Amino acid sequence: MNTKISVDKNKAKDKDKDKDKDKVILLICDGLGDRPSLGGKTPLQAADTPFIDKISEDGINGLMDVISPGIVPGSDTAHLAILGYDPYKYYPGRGVFEAFGADMELHKGDVAFRANFATVDDKMRVIDRRAGRKGSKELAEALNGLEIEDIKIFLKNTTEHRCAVVMKGKNLSKYVSDVDTHEEGGIVKDCKPLTLKEGADERKTAGIVNEFVRMSYGILNEHPVNEERRRRGEPPANIVLLRGAGSYEEVPSMKERYGFGAACIAGASLYKGVAKYLGMDVVPVEGATGKADTNLNNKAEAALHALDEHDFVFVHVKGTDNSGHEGDFEGKRKMISRIDKELVARIEDVDSYIIITADHSTPVSIKRHSSDPVPVVIKGDGVRKDGVNKFDEISVASGGLGRIRGIDLVPILSDFMGYYKMYGT
Ligand code: ZN
Ligand code: ZN
Repeated sequence: MNTKISVDKNKAKDKDKDKDKDKVILLICDGLGDRPSLGGKTPLQAADTPFIDKISEDGINGLMDVISPGIVPGSDTAHLAILGYDPYKYYPGRGVFEAFGADMELHKGDVAFRANFATVDDKMRVIDRRAGRKGSKELAEALNGLEIEDIKIFLKNTTEHRCAVVMKGKNLSKYVSDVDTHEEGGIVKDCKPLTLKEGADERKTAGIVNEFVRMSYGILNEHPVNEERRRRGEPPANIVLLRGAGSYEEVPSMKERYGFGAACIAGASLYKGVAKYLGMDVVPVEGATGKADTNLNNKAEAALHALDEHDFVFVHVKGTDNSGHEGDFEGKRKMISRIDKELVARIEDVDSYIIITADHSTPVSIKRHSSDPVPVVIKGDGVRKDGVNKFDEISVASGGLGRIRGIDLVPILSDFMGYYKMYGT
């Protein structure tokens, strides 16, 4: 009995302490933005979204150039910008996010890569750059911990054929080219220093990468796991192809930079990697796959739960981008309707700010990212409701937020949340 009373008291005290600060759920639907196509509508216009529209009606709306007008964002740079980090200053290269997303450790100066198991013939011609979309923990283990000169190399198989590679040692550089051919039929490329910045570190790193790729073929081609795969008629995973070099430097965490403790709810490893890089807590969610079949109910529950311990909860949904790349209007429309019913419906009445936006547009008509600005809405205490009552690319253009950049979003939220710093007196 006594214990119970004292716990409740503490809870009440905590609440009082935080009274002047509000919390945020930021929902980023990857590649949500689009252009009018089927029936003159965008997938977002065509989707059934009563809960999202209600947020629009109660909130302040606008368009957002995630990097700046005319710049086509990658998902990684886009997320940095939206989370308040200028990508031109803080982008470490994709490999770093891949390694963090794979739960690998990184220290200052380490160079990390994305990598694939692939299938090559004995002339180094790429037969299948995804090795039948099948990786192997055992093959990864055969390469993990190799040493070349004074450099130690770590490799982890993440999902399917995908891997992350970390190189540790002195004088490494991220300014080296990809070994991956990016298409079948080509010969495995030589890693080279990138011409913009060629020096001893770049030459050394390129040499290590090339040696590592050669060794991977030597070790994997004859490996029993691959003999077995051949017997079953499967393509052997007999080489590792590296790309997207990144170099790790510490950055100030969101807590240090903005004052709030942040959490990430995501299925795909890139976003978990970005979150870790920024010092956010990554919350594991059962059934979050980073694909269209992801469990949105569980993500909603996890987001609400994360709000107990965190000030800023970033929720990522990937499925919208996937159908954009596939040119699948109907798939994108359906995914948006699902986000409305299975995710937004569950969080819409929370006593926090809610923001819904995208990291970029992925129009189904062009099947790639575009620079079209994305819709954004902020709902919560004190926002100037603006008369927009439908959340889509066209309707929000007349909203009170006008047109902002991705990097503006967190400062705007900081002020609403009570973390503002006055400029001048
Ligand atoms: Zn994206
Ligand atoms: Zn994409």
